[in-house]
Amino acid sequence: MINADLHSHSTISDGLLTPTELVRRAAELGVELFALTDHDDISGLAEASAEAARLGLPFVSGVEISVTWETTTLHVVGLNIDVENAGLKASLVEAREGRRHRAQLMADDLTRVGITGSLEGANKYATNKEMIGRTHFARFLADKGIVSDVKSAFKRYLVKGKPGYVAHEWMSLEHAVHCIHGAGGVAVLAHPGRYKLGSTPMRRLLSEFRDLGGEALEVVTGNHTPDQVRHYSGLAKNFGFAASRGSDYHGPGESYTLPGRLPPLPIGLQAVWEMWER
Ligand code: AMP
Ligand code: MN
Ligand code: MN
Ligand code: MN
Repeated sequence: MINADLHSHSTISDGLLTPTELVRRAAELGVELFALTDHDDISGLAEASAEAARLGLPFVSGVEISVTWETTTLHVVGLNIDVENAGLKASLVEAREGRRHRAQLMADDLTRVGITGSLEGANKYATNKEMIGRTHFARFLADKGIVSDVKSAFKRYLVKGKPGYVAHEWMSLEHAVHCIHGAGGVAVLAHPGRYKLGSTPMRRLLSEFRDLGGEALEVVTGNHTPDQVRHYSGLAKNFGFAASRGSDYHGPGESYTLPGRLPPLPIGLQAVWEMWER
């Protein structure tokens, strides 16, 4: 099986490497099919795909869309999308405007616990000023010495129940799938093991995603334990989803899983990349 890695982040969202650096890193590590999937932004794809072409690395244009489903934030990866699609682009502009609004509220919340200047601070870590996220706040908090590292910034400040966390209404699941399909892409539910959903809500989510035309489940990701890989492999088979594989790499020092350094897809699953390859 080819070494496909179909989930990663560059400085266009909350990754640490530029699209060019990221593609080079993936090629060095032996990745044979690579997708850049920045959060709510596709402006890194032209640069990434040009570098991939230069290196002879087969490249897939992707995006990771933030979604609110019931009360849960989900991520849906769109793969093999047309980067010129107007509908997708417009919806991502809206998503990023929502991020800017949330960032202001997060900063206000942090001010209330005595942490000032976090919006300007976080913005310094956002190479792409349009795409501001919690990771940029986390880097600010860590570099300021308020917490020891990015992980603890999330633990102490940026997750539900902590100061700095602001609930946000993202795009609906239906709209995300619709945008991805409108751009000719395939919709993949990212890292299902990360959502704190019990088995009944998870099945409800998978049924709904399937009914909306969602095609695949990210069975192998840097976030899954071997047990979770087995579990979601079973669910992919039961629900008739294809399977994806992606490291969710964010850069040196912030991701345990390097590009392409993942277990293979379990046997008996349809690889998502077969849906557009050949
Ligand atoms: P946002 O989309 O701005 O809410 O930020 C989500 C991003 O924050 C994820 O894609 C991860 O990169 C990062 N993240 C979320 N939770 C954690 C965590 N516990 N530790 C480190 N990074 C995290
Ligand atoms: Mn991220
Ligand atoms: Mn994600
Ligand atoms: Mn991701």
